[in-house]
Amino acid sequence: MSGIGRRAVLAGLAATALPRPALAQGARGRVAVIGGGFGGATAARVLHRAGLDVTLVEPAETYWACPFSNEVIAGLRPMSAQAFGYEGLRASGVTIARTSAEAVDGAARQVRLADGRTLDYDRLILSPGIALRFDALPGYDAAAAETMPHAWKAGAQTELLAQKLAALPEGGTVVLSVPGNPYRCPPGPYERASLIAYYLKAHKPRAKLIVLDAKDTFSKQKLFEQAWKALYPGLLEYVPLAAGGQVTAVDPAAMTVATDFETYKADLACIIPPQRAAPIATQAGVADRSGWCPIDPVTFESRLVPRIHVIGDAAIAGAMPKSAFAANAQGKVCAEAVTDLLAGRTPAAPKLINTCYSLVAPGYGISVAGVYHPDKGVLADVEGAGGTSPVDAPDTVRQQEATYAEDWYRTITSAVFG
Ligand SMILES: Cc1cc2nc3c(=O)[nH]c(=O)nc-3n(C[C@H](O)[C@H](O)[C@H](O)COP(=O)(O)OP(=O)(O)OC[C@H]3O[C@@H](n4cnc5c(N)ncnc54)[C@H](O)[C@@H]3O)c2cc1C
Repeated sequence: MSGIGRRAVLAGLAATALPRPALAQGARGRVAVIGGGFGGATAARVLHRAGLDVTLVEPAETYWACPFSNEVIAGLRPMSAQAFGYEGLRASGVTIARTSAEAVDGAARQVRLADGRTLDYDRLILSPGIALRFDALPGYDAAAAETMPHAWKAGAQTELLAQKLAALPEGGTVVLSVPGNPYRCPPGPYERASLIAYYLKAHKPRAKLIVLDAKDTFSKQKLFEQAWKALYPGLLEYVPLAAGGQVTAVDPAAMTVATDFETYKADLACIIPPQRAAPIATQAGVADRSGWCPIDPVTFESRLVPRIHVIGDAAIAGAMPKSAFAANAQGKVCAEAVTDLLAGRTPAAPKLINTCYSLVAPGYGISVAGVYHPDKGVLADVEGAGGTSPVDAPDTVRQQEATYAEDWYRTITSAVFG
């Protein structure tokens, strides 16, 4: 924090719009990172290791991880298993400003913090995650989310959905709505559907789950559908876009979820609304009209504002999905590119990997993996690399993948926060 103290000499952003001396070749620069999630915490750690002066801006003292939060909802895991603090990062020497970034002035290269201080930077990395687009679904807003939880940001919403599921009357109906692309964690809604179905089968076998989807195809579809047929027949009803699955409005008072074809009455509704990059990205001018942030696929530098890099869910990362695995990989690549740029070196074209595991029941895991590289200005699939779990695999393979999923979670959270 003393680093900020030294830099926080100017009262406001406007006062700092002075020309700056260019960094000499090999010179070390100041890097600010906004957001201490999977992307930002990774980038801050790598930058610090490279010897750069880095400040991570994050208001929360506890980070609630989304991966495995569907298991919490289904009562398979305690919420405490999702909590991570920043002591590890602090102990490793990363400076953390425990406040939020209120405004970024890309011309002045300065961040205004909510606690009144300002932070100068030579390069800024934004990893602020998503905002829920409450404006995009009539009837749904922050108040409605207390009745019809989204649980798409882990924390209180996760616990609320878990409580509501446990309180569901026997023979009740759960409605889960899934948005169109792009959104955080493409297979996440289908993992959630699977684990809610698992919970219902075990505890309320006369209950029903209706999944209303704003699209016709989704990640690991064949694998999910095969598992649903085998494990949850008659319990889980999937309604794709073509069959009228797109939710057009909700009414939390009446507990109804409407599509163009039908209005569903729910005892419990989980509404995952459309999303966009978190507000600070729009404020900084790095989000385009889609609400997401276009980037250069080699450096993750914004296509809209120089010297600001965007990683993780907020970025338009081409074929790469919005996942914790991807945010972590992008955090490393971006931090290395920033280190190179500040030293006057040209960053090399990266290759990035993503793997997403989903549980469809305890001991039953499936996965999708991909490899990506910059191609024609975007991050594209490396052809022939990656793929999904085999469709007709024996139980031992599913069991193994469930174990790999646990191992992955332990490894990534310890690498990022430990
Ligand atoms: C139910 C569910 C299951 C999932 N399962 C998986 C999985 O199995 N595997 C997987 O790889 N991914 C999974 N994901 C996706 C994963 O959680 C996200 O892709 C990942 O968290 C993105 O990381 P990020 O750094 O972009 O954003 P986040 O992790 O959301 O971090 C953003 C951080 O920025 C901070 N912030 C925001 N605005 C500001 C500001 N103005 N100033 C300062 N700080 C700010 C926030 O407090 C937050 O800590 C899942 C998601 C969900 C919803």
